[in-house]
Amino acid sequence: MASGQTRTGKAQYFDGLSSARHAVVVEAAPDALRILRPDGALLATWPYDDLRQQTAPDSMMRLRRSGGPELARLELRDPELIALIDDYADSLDRSGGAERRLRKRVIVWTVAAAASIVLVAVYGLPALSNQIAPLIPLPLEERFGVVMDKQVRAMLDDGKAGQAFECGLTDAEKPGRAALDALIGRMEAAAGLPISLKTAVVRKSDANAIALPGGHIYVFEGLIRRSRTPDEMAGVIAHEIGHVAHRDGTRSLLQAAGLSFLFGMLLGDFTGGSLVVIAARTVVQSAYSRDVETAADLYGVSLMSGIGGDPKALGTILDRIAGQVEPGSKILLDHPQTKDRIVAINAAADASPAKITPLLSAAEWAALKRICG
Ligand SMILES: [Zn+2]
Repeated sequence: MASGQTRTGKAQYFDGLSSARHAVVVEAAPDALRILRPDGALLATWPYDDLRQQTAPDSMMRLRRSGGPELARLELRDPELIALIDDYADSLDRSGGAERRLRKRVIVWTVAAAASIVLVAVYGLPALSNQIAPLIPLPLEERFGVVMDKQVRAMLDDGKAGQAFECGLTDAEKPGRAALDALIGRMEAAAGLPISLKTAVVRKSDANAIALPGGHIYVFEGLIRRSRTPDEMAGVIAHEIGHVAHRDGTRSLLQAAGLSFLFGMLLGDFTGGSLVVIAARTVVQSAYSRDVETAADLYGVSLMSGIGGDPKALGTILDRIAGQVEPGSKILLDHPQTKDRIVAINAAADASPAKITPLLSAAEWAALKRICG
């Protein structure tokens, strides 16, 4: 748009050599930006490719020239002139957009941090985390999940397996991985999550699964071994997808690490050692509240119904293996109110009966059973 148009307007120019500001006329022509003295004499010509945008108040555009004097800059306030320069300068639009997004994020986080301090004082940390977790931008949660993924794997891997910690990677194991991918793909499509799932099967003997912030889900070898049907395993995974959808991992990290987590996120400093270790330990070891587990159960029931699976299968496997989980590895199964959970799962399943179809063929399920060799 606007091709061929030339527009002029007033601006302030700092030449970077003296502290004086100059009232100038800026001419945005199709080929370049020209800076003119009020009497029309040419002061400088800035090619659009060289323009860089600097942080400025909202109504102002502040430009530098790449490679020019450090302090030389142009300040414009004419909205139509600014819009035309935005159109002509492709590189500027991108960097300007990034600048604006960053500025917006900093403002959001500054407000969130200030609000959090008040909330901590008034309500304590748990309430704070419920308020703040939904505000955390998903891309940030995903970035944090990537860092945590490494740490949690290191924490879970006791080295006992004597082989790769993740299953499904060798040629013999790949058919199992393909079967799981097909199932997860259907669950993900039905769930409509705002972030993508990253599922891994790991060599752990507990009948368990863990969800991390950012959509990471670990399915333990023991869960697949102890599941009598694909639906039992899928029911547990559906419960974990519920934790992802509800952002429970992020909320529990806020509770555990509190403001340091917030500020770490604000500064984008996820790799700063201790924070990640605390976060990983929290996700692996701490238990969710009963309400949070119930909400994940109900999510799991509706997700199972949505893919034509048996919505009661989660209750079935809970009932069979509750209390048989190694201490220190929680999340799903060592919850004291297991009986209550099963009753609630069955009630929700009965409330909206759906047609049940096989989630996997017999061959796929057999392959998945062999995913860890
Ligand atoms: Zn859970």
